[in-house]
Amino acid sequence: MNTSQIKSLNDQFILNTYGERKLALVRGSGVSVWDADGREYLDFFAGIAVVSLGHCHPEVTEAICRQARTLVHVSNLYYIERQVQLAKILSEHSFASRWFFCNCGATANEAAIKLARRYWVQKGTPKPDILAMQQSFHGRTLAALTATGQPKYHQGFEPLASGISATVPYDDVEALERAITPSTGAVILEPIQGEGGVRVPSAGYLRAVREICSKRGVLMILDEVQTGMGRTGKLFAHEHAGIFPDIMTLAKALGNGVPIGALGCTEEVASGFGPGMHASTFGGNPLCTAAALATVSVMTRPGFLEHVCEVGGYFMEKLHQLAAKYPVIREIRGKGLMIGVELNTEVKPVVDKMQEAGIICGPAGPKVLRFVPPLVIEKEHVDRVVTALDTILGAL
Ligand SMILES: *Cc1c(COP(=O)(O)O)cnc(C)c1O
Repeated sequence: MNTSQIKSLNDQFILNTYGERKLALVRGSGVSVWDADGREYLDFFAGIAVVSLGHCHPEVTEAICRQARTLVHVSNLYYIERQVQLAKILSEHSFASRWFFCNCGATANEAAIKLARRYWVQKGTPKPDILAMQQSFHGRTLAALTATGQPKYHQGFEPLASGISATVPYDDVEALERAITPSTGAVILEPIQGEGGVRVPSAGYLRAVREICSKRGVLMILDEVQTGMGRTGKLFAHEHAGIFPDIMTLAKALGNGVPIGALGCTEEVASGFGPGMHASTFGGNPLCTAAALATVSVMTRPGFLEHVCEVGGYFMEKLHQLAAKYPVIREIRGKGLMIGVELNTEVKPVVDKMQEAGIICGPAGPKVLRFVPPLVIEKEHVDRVVTALDTILGAL
């Protein structure tokens, strides 16, 4: 099918939640994708920070194919070999020692909220309230949506989940201290807010949140769905702050495109869940955990994260040179290869023009241009993107 044939079937049969799009991408390899009419694009969005090893990475593809020929699905009524291997490698590379697998970021956050509530019930001191941040994003299921501090996503879906309040200003330690009450059981936040505009908090913020949570008896849940898996130059973004949370959620890049979400937690917090308390039919099935195991194996090899830091630093430097030239650039934010360029103007026309120039990037809110490319990009790819952006901003 060509693009217009795909579009017309979409318009006829797909619920209208995504609005109009320009491209139908049908093939990918490394940092390139091709549309249904055969045109090639340099992908600096990676399916929203998902395809971190590049499209159709040979080792992940091989793991998927091998697993597809062996066993695609059983249920969690049985032990799953790939799942336990994945949990082991994730534990070896993080603070977490216990894992629950699900299907996406939203379901990982649902699991985190449920675990936090159960943990305090189990302790005999129920504290059901969950605090979340303004401008956050935690997913579209009802509890995760309630924890998402962007009113535009709530409209028309009330009543939202009770006991969850996303009204704490981000990067404001005192506001968090004031918001905690005796019934606050957990705080959920992103180490860097992604969807909310690539907002990097001030240097001591995460550490201060950790200290407040420990002091006040509140669990710290870090949503690393977007920041995790090497995106910021560490395997998990909280490592930059030298702290660890009680619970962390993962999804996006974990399976390099195969849908999988995860919750990792400390041994102590893991005691909140017992048999029958939480479950997922597909969660951690052989196919998705085989893909994630291959993905994590590549990401934890020597040199992988160093490459992210080096290319990310180079990209930042080039963007700062553009910022010196174009006052339309208000601010450049980010870490590693999670980068937001805030403009003084609407970002959509810029995204469209980049696309016309053969480069895929995306927005993070109305005025922030977001780059979350595959982590395997090279400096020459950065040069192409910066040159195109230079031309487009010059013509604005
Ligand atoms: C994308 C995202 C989610 C939601 O993930 P889904 O897989 O779409 O459910 C949650 N939290 C953060 C920080 C995200 O970036």
